[in-house]
Amino acid sequence: MLRDFFIGLSKNQLLNTAAKNYGLKMGAQNVVAGTTIEETIESIKELNKHGISATVDNLGEFVFKEEEATEAKEQIVKVIQAIHDHQVDAHISLKPTQVGLDIDFDFCVGNVREIVAKANEYGIFVNVDMEDSGHLGATLELVDILSADFDNIGTVIQAYLHDAQEQVEKYRNMRIRLVKGAYKEPAEIAYQDKKDIDANYVRIIEWHLLNGKFTSVATHDHNIINHVKRFVKEHNIPNDKFEFQMLYGFRRELQLQLAKEGYNFCTYVPFGKDWYGYFMRRLAERPQNLNLVFKQVFNKKTNTIIGVAAGAFLAGRLSKGKNKKNNR
Ligand SMILES: Cc1cc2nc3c(=O)[nH]c(=O)nc-3n(C[C@H](O)[C@H](O)[C@H](O)COP(=O)(O)OP(=O)(O)OC[C@H]3O[C@@H](n4cnc5c(N)ncnc54)[C@H](O)[C@@H]3O)c2cc1C
Repeated sequence: MLRDFFIGLSKNQLLNTAAKNYGLKMGAQNVVAGTTIEETIESIKELNKHGISATVDNLGEFVFKEEEATEAKEQIVKVIQAIHDHQVDAHISLKPTQVGLDIDFDFCVGNVREIVAKANEYGIFVNVDMEDSGHLGATLELVDILSADFDNIGTVIQAYLHDAQEQVEKYRNMRIRLVKGAYKEPAEIAYQDKKDIDANYVRIIEWHLLNGKFTSVATHDHNIINHVKRFVKEHNIPNDKFEFQMLYGFRRELQLQLAKEGYNFCTYVPFGKDWYGYFMRRLAERPQNLNLVFKQVFNKKTNTIIGVAAGAFLAGRLSKGKNKKNNR
Protein backbone atom coordinates (compact mmCIF):
# COMPACT_ATOMS: atom_id res chain seq x y z
CA MET A 1 0.00 0.00 0.00
CA LEU A 2 2.83 2.40 0.86
CA ARG A 3 4.39 1.61 -2.49
CA ASP A 4 1.22 2.64 -4.31
CA PHE A 5 0.92 5.75 -2.18
CA PHE A 6 4.42 6.98 -2.93
CA ILE A 7 4.16 6.10 -6.59
CA GLY A 8 0.94 8.18 -6.57
CA LEU A 9 2.79 11.04 -4.88
CA SER A 10 5.64 10.81 -7.38
CA LYS A 11 3.13 11.61 -10.12
CA ASN A 12 1.66 14.61 -8.34
CA GLN A 13 2.54 17.62 -10.44
CA LEU A 14 1.48 20.17 -7.83
CA LEU A 15 3.78 18.76 -5.17
CA ASN A 16 6.50 18.41 -7.76
CA THR A 17 6.29 22.11 -8.60
CA ALA A 18 6.18 23.07 -4.92
CA ALA A 19 9.23 20.91 -4.16
CA LYS A 20 11.32 22.67 -6.82
CA ASN A 21 10.95 25.92 -4.90
CA TYR A 22 12.10 24.46 -1.60
CA GLY A 23 15.49 22.97 -2.54
CA LEU A 24 16.48 19.54 -1.28
CA LYS A 25 14.28 18.68 1.70
CA MET A 26 12.87 15.76 3.66
CA GLY A 27 16.11 13.77 3.43
CA ALA A 28 16.34 14.08 -0.36
CA GLN A 29 19.78 15.63 0.16
CA ASN A 30 21.02 12.17 1.23
CA VAL A 31 20.15 10.61 -2.10
CA VAL A 32 20.49 13.55 -4.52
CA ALA A 33 24.05 14.75 -5.15
CA GLY A 34 23.22 18.44 -5.40
CA THR A 35 21.21 20.99 -7.30
CA THR A 36 24.01 22.28 -9.56
CA ILE A 37 26.52 20.78 -11.99
CA GLU A 38 29.40 22.11 -9.88
CA GLU A 39 28.19 20.35 -6.72
CA THR A 40 27.64 17.18 -8.70
CA ILE A 41 31.15 17.19 -10.18
CA GLU A 42 32.51 17.45 -6.62
CA SER A 43 30.42 14.43 -5.58
CA ILE A 44 31.71 12.48 -8.59
CA LYS A 45 35.31 13.35 -7.74
CA GLU A 46 34.71 11.95 -4.27
CA LEU A 47 33.33 8.68 -5.74
CA ASN A 48 36.21 8.46 -8.23
CA LYS A 49 38.68 8.68 -5.34
CA HIS A 50 37.27 5.33 -4.20
CA GLY A 51 37.52 3.78 -7.67
CA ILE A 52 33.79 4.25 -8.30
CA SER A 53 32.53 5.69 -11.58
CA ALA A 54 29.29 7.62 -11.94
CA THR A 55 26.28 7.79 -14.20
CA VAL A 56 24.81 11.27 -13.97
CA ASP A 57 21.09 11.96 -14.15
CA ASN A 58 19.84 15.52 -14.53
CA LEU A 59 16.53 15.11 -12.70
CA GLY A 60 13.39 16.28 -14.46
CA GLU A 61 9.75 15.24 -14.61
CA PHE A 62 6.49 16.45 -16.15
CA VAL A 63 8.04 17.94 -19.24
CA PHE A 64 5.25 18.83 -21.63
CA LYS A 65 6.60 22.01 -23.24
CA GLU A 66 9.26 22.18 -25.94
CA GLU A 67 11.18 24.93 -24.10
CA GLU A 68 11.46 22.75 -21.00
CA ALA A 69 12.70 19.77 -23.02
CA THR A 70 15.21 21.97 -24.85
CA GLU A 71 16.40 23.40 -21.55
CA ALA A 72 16.87 19.87 -20.18
CA LYS A 73 18.81 18.83 -23.28
CA GLU A 74 21.07 21.88 -22.96
CA GLN A 75 21.68 21.12 -19.30
CA ILE A 76 22.67 17.53 -20.16
CA VAL A 77 25.06 18.79 -22.84
CA LYS A 78 26.60 21.06 -20.17
CA VAL A 79 27.02 18.03 -17.89
CA ILE A 80 28.83 16.19 -20.70
CA GLN A 81 31.11 19.19 -21.16
CA ALA A 82 31.77 19.33 -17.41
CA ILE A 83 32.57 15.59 -17.27
CA HIS A 84 35.08 16.14 -20.07
CA ASP A 85 36.55 19.37 -18.67
CA HIS A 86 37.05 17.89 -15.20
CA GLN A 87 38.14 14.53 -16.61
CA VAL A 88 35.99 12.66 -14.12
CA ASP A 89 35.05 9.02 -14.62
CA ALA A 90 31.36 9.41 -15.44
CA HIS A 91 28.73 8.95 -18.10
CA ILE A 92 25.14 10.08 -18.66
CA SER A 93 21.76 8.60 -17.78
CA LEU A 94 18.72 10.31 -19.22
CA LYS A 95 14.97 9.86 -19.23
CA PRO A 96 13.38 10.30 -22.69
CA THR A 97 10.32 12.07 -21.24
CA GLN A 98 12.62 14.77 -19.90
CA VAL A 99 13.82 15.58 -23.40
CA GLY A 100 10.45 15.54 -25.10
CA LEU A 101 9.07 12.01 -25.48
CA ASP A 102 5.63 13.15 -24.28
CA ILE A 103 5.72 16.09 -26.70
CA ASP A 104 6.76 14.65 -30.04
CA PHE A 105 8.74 11.53 -30.91
CA ASP A 106 10.91 13.08 -33.64
CA PHE A 107 11.62 16.12 -31.49
CA CYS A 108 12.77 13.78 -28.72
CA VAL A 109 14.94 11.73 -31.08
CA GLY A 110 16.55 14.99 -32.26
CA ASN A 111 17.33 16.00 -28.69
CA VAL A 112 18.77 12.64 -27.70
CA ARG A 113 20.75 12.54 -30.97
CA GLU A 114 22.37 15.85 -30.07
CA ILE A 115 23.24 14.57 -26.60
CA VAL A 116 24.64 11.25 -27.84
CA ALA A 117 26.63 12.98 -30.61
CA LYS A 118 28.18 15.42 -28.12
CA ALA A 119 29.00 12.58 -25.72
CA ASN A 120 30.46 10.57 -28.59
CA GLU A 121 32.97 13.36 -29.31
CA TYR A 122 34.43 12.76 -25.86
CA GLY A 123 33.99 8.98 -25.71
CA ILE A 124 31.25 9.30 -23.08
CA PHE A 125 28.51 6.67 -22.87
CA VAL A 126 24.81 7.61 -22.69
CA ASN A 127 22.28 5.35 -21.02
CA VAL A 128 18.63 5.78 -21.92
CA ASP A 129 16.74 4.98 -18.72
CA MET A 130 13.52 3.00 -18.91
CA GLU A 131 10.36 4.59 -17.56
CA ASP A 132 6.88 3.10 -17.25
CA SER A 133 5.39 0.72 -19.83
CA GLY A 134 3.48 3.55 -21.52
CA HIS A 135 6.86 4.81 -22.78
CA LEU A 136 8.53 1.45 -23.35
CA GLY A 137 7.83 1.02 -27.09
CA ALA A 138 8.83 4.56 -28.01
CA THR A 139 11.97 4.37 -25.85
CA LEU A 140 13.14 1.17 -27.53
CA GLU A 141 12.39 2.67 -30.95
CA LEU A 142 14.47 5.71 -30.04
CA VAL A 143 17.33 3.46 -28.92
CA ASP A 144 17.06 1.43 -32.16
CA ILE A 145 17.25 4.57 -34.30
CA LEU A 146 20.22 6.10 -32.51
CA SER A 147 22.16 2.88 -32.00
CA ALA A 148 22.24 2.51 -35.79
CA ASP A 149 24.43 5.65 -35.86
CA PHE A 150 26.24 5.58 -32.51
CA ASP A 151 27.78 2.88 -30.35
CA ASN A 152 27.96 4.97 -27.16
CA ILE A 153 24.29 4.38 -26.34
CA GLY A 154 22.60 1.74 -24.22
CA THR A 155 19.39 1.22 -22.31
CA VAL A 156 17.70 -0.57 -19.43
CA ILE A 157 15.76 -3.81 -19.25
CA GLN A 158 13.25 -4.31 -16.43
CA ALA A 159 13.03 -7.85 -15.05
CA TYR A 160 9.40 -7.47 -13.95
CA LEU A 161 8.30 -7.43 -17.61
CA HIS A 162 7.19 -10.79 -18.98
CA ASP A 163 9.15 -10.16 -22.19
CA ALA A 164 12.40 -9.11 -20.49
CA GLN A 165 14.20 -12.19 -21.84
CA GLU A 166 13.26 -11.29 -25.44
CA GLN A 167 14.52 -7.76 -24.88
CA VAL A 168 17.78 -9.03 -23.40
CA GLU A 169 18.33 -11.22 -26.45
CA LYS A 170 17.51 -8.40 -28.85
CA TYR A 171 19.93 -6.01 -27.13
CA ARG A 172 22.72 -8.52 -26.49
CA ASN A 173 25.25 -6.41 -28.44
CA MET A 174 24.68 -3.33 -26.37
CA ARG A 175 25.87 -2.20 -22.97
CA ILE A 176 22.71 -2.88 -20.97
CA ARG A 177 21.59 -2.04 -17.44
CA LEU A 178 19.45 -4.76 -15.87
CA VAL A 179 17.04 -3.78 -13.09
CA LYS A 180 14.04 -5.26 -11.30
CA GLY A 181 11.79 -2.35 -12.41
CA ALA A 182 10.55 0.69 -10.51
CA TYR A 183 7.03 1.40 -11.76
CA LYS A 184 3.61 -0.05 -11.02
CA GLU A 185 2.68 -2.21 -14.01
CA PRO A 186 -0.40 -4.34 -14.68
CA ALA A 187 -0.36 -8.12 -14.27
CA GLU A 188 -0.98 -8.58 -18.01
CA ILE A 189 2.55 -7.45 -18.80
CA ALA A 190 4.54 -7.66 -15.56
CA TYR A 191 5.21 -10.07 -12.71
CA GLN A 192 3.71 -8.82 -9.47
CA ASP A 193 5.34 -11.18 -6.99
CA LYS A 194 8.77 -10.33 -5.64
CA LYS A 195 9.74 -14.01 -5.95
CA ASP A 196 8.86 -14.09 -9.66
CA ILE A 197 10.58 -10.77 -10.34
CA ASP A 198 13.74 -11.91 -8.57
CA ALA A 199 13.75 -15.23 -10.47
CA ASN A 200 13.35 -13.45 -13.81
CA TYR A 201 16.01 -10.95 -12.80
CA VAL A 202 18.54 -13.71 -12.08
CA ARG A 203 17.60 -15.42 -15.36
CA ILE A 204 18.24 -12.35 -17.53
CA ILE A 205 21.40 -11.39 -15.65
CA GLU A 206 22.88 -14.84 -16.17
CA TRP A 207 21.91 -14.83 -19.85
CA HIS A 208 23.36 -11.39 -20.48
CA LEU A 209 26.55 -12.14 -18.57
CA LEU A 210 27.10 -15.21 -20.73
CA ASN A 211 26.00 -13.75 -24.07
CA GLY A 212 25.87 -9.96 -23.83
CA LYS A 213 28.40 -7.23 -24.57
CA PHE A 214 28.57 -5.55 -21.17
CA THR A 215 26.17 -6.01 -18.27
CA SER A 216 25.35 -3.43 -15.61
CA VAL A 217 23.72 -5.20 -12.68
CA ALA A 218 21.82 -2.38 -10.97
CA THR A 219 20.49 -3.51 -7.62
CA HIS A 220 20.85 -2.99 -3.87
CA ASP A 221 19.91 -6.61 -3.27
CA HIS A 222 22.87 -8.37 -1.64
CA ASN A 223 21.44 -11.82 -2.45
CA ILE A 224 21.46 -11.01 -6.15
CA ILE A 225 24.91 -9.41 -5.89
CA ASN A 226 26.31 -12.47 -4.11
CA HIS A 227 24.73 -14.71 -6.71
CA VAL A 228 26.38 -12.69 -9.51
CA LYS A 229 29.74 -12.90 -7.75
CA ARG A 230 29.47 -16.70 -7.57
CA PHE A 231 28.17 -16.97 -11.13
CA VAL A 232 30.96 -14.94 -12.76
CA LYS A 233 33.54 -16.96 -10.84
CA GLU A 234 32.03 -20.30 -11.88
CA HIS A 235 31.84 -19.20 -15.54
CA ASN A 236 35.17 -17.39 -15.69
CA ILE A 237 33.51 -14.14 -16.72
CA PRO A 238 36.13 -11.40 -16.47
CA ASN A 239 35.48 -8.25 -14.44
CA ASP A 240 35.64 -6.06 -17.54
CA LYS A 241 32.43 -7.65 -18.88
CA PHE A 242 30.18 -6.34 -16.16
CA GLU A 243 29.71 -3.85 -13.35
CA PHE A 244 27.50 -3.36 -10.34
CA GLN A 245 25.44 -0.19 -10.03
CA MET A 246 23.61 1.36 -7.09
CA LEU A 247 21.92 4.65 -6.45
CA TYR A 248 23.76 7.52 -4.79
CA GLY A 249 23.37 7.48 -1.02
CA PHE A 250 22.15 3.88 -0.76
CA ARG A 251 24.21 1.09 0.88
CA ARG A 252 27.36 3.20 0.83
CA GLU A 253 29.41 0.61 2.73
CA LEU A 254 28.50 -2.11 0.25
CA GLN A 255 29.31 0.20 -2.68
CA LEU A 256 32.78 0.86 -1.26
CA GLN A 257 33.31 -2.78 -0.41
CA LEU A 258 32.48 -4.01 -3.92
CA ALA A 259 34.82 -1.43 -5.45
CA LYS A 260 37.52 -2.47 -2.98
CA GLU A 261 37.04 -6.10 -3.94
CA GLY A 262 38.01 -5.11 -7.49
CA TYR A 263 34.59 -5.14 -9.17
CA ASN A 264 33.68 -2.35 -11.55
CA PHE A 265 31.25 -0.19 -9.65
CA CYS A 266 29.15 2.70 -10.91
CA THR A 267 26.98 4.95 -8.77
CA TYR A 268 23.85 6.52 -10.25
CA VAL A 269 24.18 10.20 -9.37
CA PRO A 270 20.97 12.22 -9.66
CA PHE A 271 21.12 15.96 -9.34
CA GLY A 272 18.98 19.04 -9.89
CA LYS A 273 16.02 20.91 -8.51
CA ASP A 274 13.50 18.41 -9.77
CA TRP A 275 14.23 15.83 -7.07
CA TYR A 276 10.69 15.18 -5.84
CA GLY A 277 9.43 12.37 -8.16
CA TYR A 278 12.76 10.55 -7.95
CA PHE A 279 12.73 10.73 -4.16
CA MET A 280 9.12 9.50 -3.92
CA ARG A 281 9.95 6.48 -6.11
CA ARG A 282 12.83 5.62 -3.78
CA LEU A 283 10.42 5.79 -0.82
CA ALA A 284 8.00 3.56 -2.72
CA GLU A 285 10.65 0.93 -3.26
CA ARG A 286 11.66 0.37 0.32
CA PRO A 287 9.70 1.41 3.40
CA GLN A 288 12.93 1.60 5.41
CA ASN A 289 13.97 4.57 3.28
CA LEU A 290 11.31 6.47 5.18
CA ASN A 291 13.75 6.98 8.03
CA LEU A 292 15.27 9.66 5.78
CA VAL A 293 11.96 11.53 5.89
CA PHE A 294 11.37 11.05 9.60
CA LYS A 295 14.81 12.37 10.52
CA GLN A 296 14.11 15.54 8.56
CA VAL A 297 10.47 16.10 9.47
CA PHE A 298 10.94 15.60 13.19
CA ASN A 299 14.52 16.69 13.88
CA LYS A 300 14.76 19.79 11.72
CA LYS A 301 11.17 20.96 12.09
CA THR A 302 10.86 21.20 8.32
CA ASN A 303 7.59 22.86 7.58
CA THR A 304 7.32 22.51 3.87
CA ILE A 305 3.98 21.54 2.45
CA ILE A 306 5.45 18.27 1.23
CA GLY A 307 7.17 17.39 4.47
CA VAL A 308 4.07 17.95 6.52
CA ALA A 309 1.85 16.09 4.06
CA ALA A 310 4.14 13.09 4.01
CA GLY A 311 4.65 13.18 7.78
CA ALA A 312 0.93 13.32 8.48
CA PHE A 313 0.23 10.54 6.06
CA LEU A 314 2.93 8.35 7.49
CA ALA A 315 1.83 8.92 11.07
CA GLY A 316 -1.68 7.90 10.04
CA ARG A 317 -0.40 4.89 8.13
CA LEU A 318 1.79 3.72 10.96
CA SER A 319 -0.90 3.99 13.62
CA LYS A 320 -3.27 2.15 11.28
CA GLY A 321 -0.64 -0.53 10.77
CA LYS A 322 -0.15 -0.78 14.53
CA ASN A 323 -3.87 -1.16 15.13
CA LYS A 324 -4.03 -3.82 12.48
CA LYS A 325 -1.22 -5.70 14.17
CA ASN A 326 -2.90 -5.38 17.58
CA ASN A 327 -6.14 -6.68 16.16
CA ARG A 328 -4.49 -9.79 14.79
C1 LIG B 1 21.62 2.30 -10.69
C2 LIG B 1 20.16 2.04 -10.82
C3 LIG B 1 19.49 2.46 -11.95
C4 LIG B 1 18.12 2.19 -12.11
N1 LIG B 1 17.47 2.54 -13.26
C5 LIG B 1 16.18 2.17 -13.44
C6 LIG B 1 15.50 2.41 -14.67
O1 LIG B 1 16.03 2.97 -15.61
N2 LIG B 1 14.19 2.03 -14.76
C7 LIG B 1 13.55 1.37 -13.73
O2 LIG B 1 12.37 1.00 -13.88
N3 LIG B 1 14.18 1.16 -12.56
C8 LIG B 1 15.45 1.53 -12.39
N4 LIG B 1 16.07 1.29 -11.18
C9 LIG B 1 15.25 0.87 -10.01
C10 LIG B 1 15.11 -0.64 -9.95
O3 LIG B 1 14.25 -1.07 -10.99
C11 LIG B 1 14.49 -1.07 -8.60
O4 LIG B 1 13.21 -0.50 -8.49
C12 LIG B 1 15.29 -0.66 -7.40
O5 LIG B 1 16.66 -0.82 -7.62
C13 LIG B 1 14.88 -1.50 -6.17
O6 LIG B 1 15.16 -2.84 -6.35
P1 LIG B 1 16.51 -3.55 -5.85
O7 LIG B 1 16.97 -4.44 -6.96
O8 LIG B 1 17.51 -2.54 -5.45
O9 LIG B 1 16.14 -4.46 -4.63
P2 LIG B 1 14.84 -4.55 -3.70
O10 LIG B 1 13.95 -5.60 -4.26
O11 LIG B 1 14.30 -3.19 -3.44
O12 LIG B 1 15.49 -5.05 -2.36
C14 LIG B 1 15.87 -6.41 -2.19
C15 LIG B 1 16.54 -6.57 -0.84
O13 LIG B 1 17.80 -5.88 -0.85
C16 LIG B 1 18.04 -5.31 0.42
N5 LIG B 1 18.10 -3.84 0.26
C17 LIG B 1 17.56 -3.11 -0.72
N6 LIG B 1 17.81 -1.80 -0.56
C18 LIG B 1 18.52 -1.70 0.58
C19 LIG B 1 19.07 -0.61 1.28
N7 LIG B 1 18.95 0.65 0.86
N8 LIG B 1 19.72 -0.87 2.45
C20 LIG B 1 19.84 -2.13 2.90
N9 LIG B 1 19.34 -3.22 2.26
C21 LIG B 1 18.69 -3.00 1.12
C22 LIG B 1 16.88 -5.71 1.32
O14 LIG B 1 17.24 -6.91 1.98
C23 LIG B 1 15.77 -5.95 0.32
O15 LIG B 1 14.79 -6.81 0.80
C24 LIG B 1 17.43 1.52 -11.05
C25 LIG B 1 18.12 1.10 -9.93
C26 LIG B 1 19.47 1.32 -9.79
C27 LIG B 1 20.18 0.83 -8.57
